[in-house]
Amino acid sequence: MDLRYTAAQQAFRAQARRWLEANVPQQPLPSFDTREGFEAHRAWEAKLEKGGWAVVSWPVEYGGRGADLLEWLIFEEEYYRAGAPRRVNQNGIFLLGPTLMEFGTPEQKARYLPKMATSAEVWAQGWSEPNAGSDMAAIQASARRDGEHYVLRGQKTWASRGAFAHWLFGLFRSDPASERHRGLSFVLVPLDAPGVTVRPIAQLDGETGFAEIFLDDVRVPVDNRLGAEGQGWAVAMATAGFERGLMLRSPARFQATARRLVELYRENAADCDPALRDATVNCWLGAEAYALDTYRTVSRLLGGGKIGAEASLGKIFWSELDLRMHETALRILGERAELLPEAPAAHGVGDWLDGHLFALSGPIYAGTNEIQRNLIAERILGLPKGS
Ligand SMILES: Cc1cc2nc3c(=O)[nH]c(=O)nc-3n(C[C@H](O)[C@H](O)[C@H](O)COP(=O)(O)OP(=O)(O)OC[C@H]3O[C@@H](n4cnc5c(N)ncnc54)[C@H](O)[C@@H]3O)c2cc1C
Repeated sequence: MDLRYTAAQQAFRAQARRWLEANVPQQPLPSFDTREGFEAHRAWEAKLEKGGWAVVSWPVEYGGRGADLLEWLIFEEEYYRAGAPRRVNQNGIFLLGPTLMEFGTPEQKARYLPKMATSAEVWAQGWSEPNAGSDMAAIQASARRDGEHYVLRGQKTWASRGAFAHWLFGLFRSDPASERHRGLSFVLVPLDAPGVTVRPIAQLDGETGFAEIFLDDVRVPVDNRLGAEGQGWAVAMATAGFERGLMLRSPARFQATARRLVELYRENAADCDPALRDATVNCWLGAEAYALDTYRTVSRLLGGGKIGAEASLGKIFWSELDLRMHETALRILGERAELLPEAPAAHGVGDWLDGHLFALSGPIYAGTNEIQRNLIAERILGLPKGS
């Protein structure tokens, strides 16, 4: 592995930095888990796309730059350095997009990718059901074949951004006699189709980041299936690999939090427990270690390797690191951490409490950390399967 950036990579970084410095909104956008914030983030995505920066790793023909994974990492570093908005269509551009490139027909790619790139269409992920979370193979929502259509029935839940999204990608049981991961199909569902009911789920913070989605005999053309009928599990696993392995959480996100944590410690050093200095340094080192490990993974992938079970190690590491960073910040702030941003004494408190509430969910989404530990035990350590 060569740890130096090439001249071309440095030029790419400089170009990204210039564009972001000139275009990133001066004020933070409202949360994308509100209608107003969702639309503001879509407008930002459209601007990013116009500038050629929405989907840097996609092929040029679909609005990307054909950037390789190293350039993608560089772009992410610049993106977080610039304090740019969260990616409202991340389920589309980072998860479904790469899956469509691998499994989609030319017609499907032409139909879905350009509108995904501009966020004209925002996507929600429909894996979870009330009785199928960690045990995703227990999926019950069905896709009954009726000529050139599927008739969808069932309930999906915890669909992030589902309250406002335009489309859902999900797994449905297309073979009624099948069990577990066999007989599932990967289907793309327009959320404005007759028979779809989207019910937002209010969160602890009052926003509606999630939705339950009810499907009552929703008819979608068979052409909305991605991959072969009954082979949805393999298609979905490719998406899960991207999600937990790399694309969903680039290290730059955690390095940015670590830098903010170091600043917070410096501002408050005089008033806080000296042990918090070690905790802060440890967090910063953790973020750097995750970045280096990701560079190693990317080098391996560029050399023709594939993401395997070790993605589970990364998922546990980043989710626990994020939580530790936010807990450390709350300890530095002490009781002031609980102040709302508009409180008179809230100067310098920032949004650490909000970030902490979200960090608490890191060990749950993208496959819980307990499940990741099972995978590590079985697939990396070769231990016997748990009962
Ligand atoms: C912020 C956030 C965003 C999300 N976004 C989406 C989304 O967009 N689309 C979507 O489909 N889903 C989404 N989810 C749902 C998420 O995928 C599920 O919550 C997760 O898979 C766990 O499923 P569950 O909630 O049903 O818990 P369960 O599976 O019921 O698990 C409950 C507890 O039991 C443990 N457990 C279960 N089985 C085992 C086992 N075999 N061994 C050891 N421990 C076990 C789990 O680790 C967990 O601690 C999101 C969740 C969160 C928190």
